[in-house]
Amino acid sequence: MLWDPKRSAGSAAAKRSGRILLVEDTRFYSIAIRERLERRLNSDVYHSQTLAGVVRLIETEGDGFDLAILDLCQADAANGEALDFVMSRGIPAIVFSGISSDKKREELLARDVVDYVPKCSSGSIDVLMRAVERFLSYASASVLVYDGRGAGSPLLQSLDGGPHPFIVAMRESEAMRILDHSEGVQLALIDADVGIAECAAFMDRVQQRYQQDRLRIIGFSTQARDGDVAEFFRAGGDDFVHLPVTGSELLGRIDHMLALQAHIHSLRRMASRDYLTDLYNRRYFYDRGPKLVESGLRQGQGLAMALMDIDHFKRLNDTYGHEVGDVVLKAVAKRLVQLVASTPHLAARLGGEEFGVLLVGLEMEQALACCERLREEIGEVRIVVGDEEISVTVSMGLAAITDEESFDNYLNAADQYLYLAKNSGRNRVFSDYQVARMAVA
Ligand code: GH3
Ligand code: MG
Ligand code: MG
Repeated sequence: MLWDPKRSAGSAAAKRSGRILLVEDTRFYSIAIRERLERRLNSDVYHSQTLAGVVRLIETEGDGFDLAILDLCQADAANGEALDFVMSRGIPAIVFSGISSDKKREELLARDVVDYVPKCSSGSIDVLMRAVERFLSYASASVLVYDGRGAGSPLLQSLDGGPHPFIVAMRESEAMRILDHSEGVQLALIDADVGIAECAAFMDRVQQRYQQDRLRIIGFSTQARDGDVAEFFRAGGDDFVHLPVTGSELLGRIDHMLALQAHIHSLRRMASRDYLTDLYNRRYFYDRGPKLVESGLRQGQGLAMALMDIDHFKRLNDTYGHEVGDVVLKAVAKRLVQLVASTPHLAARLGGEEFGVLLVGLEMEQALACCERLREEIGEVRIVVGDEEISVTVSMGLAAITDEESFDNYLNAADQYLYLAKNSGRNRVFSDYQVARMAVA
């Protein structure tokens, strides 16, 4: 299990908060859980008994929930549809369910559910609260200690009382879950006494699962032999500490690694952004996009590729000058970012006045509605030039992503629809739907 020394000291619990979506249809559990979340953790709780209620809540409140707690079965969703829905909106979920079996637990944890707590007695609320607290504490941690000895880790003495909030994972799955849900964790201290091969396997899995440079890793050991340290570095480790170590040396090494990580992040950010608009650039879109497609297809999510192009942009440049053209590009990008913020979609400037939007978690009809909304909202943007107000329209091509293909194929398909959208008068979205309608007409 996870063990967080800061919390076991008992003082931090009162300060915790979080926006929590509680989906529970029994009166007893709803009242008891809500009360404890609000009073003890100081959380904002939004409660629903049904899937329809959850959908309504997310429509009105947005999907910026820190956590959802839900049963697998509601009156209008008997087969885990509410869980599917919140997960498709990127909300981390703890399942609190009367269905209790090891198989179910494994199945759910494999789906990246934060935790699975069987609802079998009133004591299960305590277990649930511990799981919630543990999850909320991820947000404040900056250092992960991965050591099978948990509270018995020899490193903790040197870390305790230091300035960096840390969290301890005893198992790899827990370490991964922390990394999944806490971007604040930038550094892992890992126990190398289990063997360098084990460390190498962990680092390998971190590499595969996350973007390069997700995490800096320091190994620590009480018994490292000659050659072990070199092997640790060859496997991708960043630093190595022989125990015992003084608190100040350890702090110096941690600070150094966190500073290095911050520097790497700022370089990474610059490399992934478009200079003019600060949107993601083409390179990032081609790097991140295929990963989102791969995981979306694996999870059976709806996916679609949209290309958006500003209409008659050359004319605008010619009429008002390149500088005004730049202002328009920035204004369009800003609105686009606002519209996709707090969605799982990925938007980027692919070049010139062309933008790519990878729509994640939407079936084709929803994707089309989303694109229509983007088109309309961007058409509403007003840019003041001297004493004139100008606006632009955009054309969009939208292609469903249903099978594993090359990323270029998805973009090419969207580009063909974009071409049709421009050819049939601009300021419109084109996809299979319109093509089918044209074929019938
Ligand atoms: P269509 O409606 O068919 O898309 O035509 P268009 O005039 O919008 O687009 P076209 O592709 O013919 O021309 C795009 C223009 O965008 C040409 C190029 O000079 C301009 N452009 C490309 N990058 C920038 C930029 O960063 N700033 C400005 N101001 N203009 C740019
Ligand atoms: Mg163009
Ligand atoms: Mg254009």
